[in-house]
Amino acid sequence: MINLFDLTGKVAIVTGANTGLGAGMAHGLADGGADLVFVSRTGSSKVKEEVEKKGRKALDVIADLSTTSSIQMIVERALREFGKIDILVNNAGIIRRTPAIEFSEKDWDEVMAVNAKTVFFFSQAVAKDMMKRKYGKIINISSLLAFQGGILVPSYAASKGAVAQVTKALANEWASRGINVNAIAPGYMSTDNTKPLRDDPVRSKSILDRIPAGRWGMPDDLKGAVVFLASSASDYMEGHVLVVDGGWMAR
Ligand code: NAP
Repeated sequence: MINLFDLTGKVAIVTGANTGLGAGMAHGLADGGADLVFVSRTGSSKVKEEVEKKGRKALDVIADLSTTSSIQMIVERALREFGKIDILVNNAGIIRRTPAIEFSEKDWDEVMAVNAKTVFFFSQAVAKDMMKRKYGKIINISSLLAFQGGILVPSYAASKGAVAQVTKALANEWASRGINVNAIAPGYMSTDNTKPLRDDPVRSKSILDRIPAGRWGMPDDLKGAVVFLASSASDYMEGHVLVVDGGWMAR
């Protein structure tokens, strides 16, 4: 039987893969058979070593995605190393927590830059290579806050709503060019991003009380969704925002 989830010979770029959800998804893609390009500010040497031990090739690119200025360099390095880009996971993201009444323009702009603007322009740069081969999978990491407003995180909620909408906009234009553009909306996952919530006993309890699965999500919980959206199993999925949240949205 053909393995619809097989990623052997595919090349995937994962941004923000040195930790958290990005690292979990990088492992999922490597387990599926893909070679990997990592992008982060601090470097992904540990994850690189781990996926190389699995027999995959990996390239670690250090770059700051708070502006679009490094994107072309990253794409060129990936193409020089591997000759093509099949999969892009736009995962790097930041969050700032402050009451809306005091929220600064700096926190607004910085979050929107990494979480939304870079997602669009990174997708655009990679799609130029994908279109030549009429093949590509772009997976954007959105959030439950594409559907809900959240608490104390106005720019984050706005940015994740933008990610969901950009996903649909790009799918409308690029589906006919052989590129599937979809998103994952993770629920409350145990990473550095959510440490302040888990450290706050009141917030932590109210969050857990609403998750039918009865636990915070872990980076490994995204492996299945990312392999699905990166593989031919999802060839007829376009512009979908796939919620992986232990049931939060069902409650
Ligand atoms: P995390 O542990 O804080 O990791 C964030 C990643 O983004 C890091 O690898 C970081 O790299 C990278 N990054 C941030 N700013 C960057 C920049 N300017 N340039 C390059 N890389 C940058 O967070 P996470 O929880 O794994 O989040 C991953 C994604 O999932 C984010 O988009 C987040 O919004 C989303 N998400 C998370 C949750 C959750 O509950 N955790 C829920 C929904 C959605 P450096 O360490 O090098 O800065």
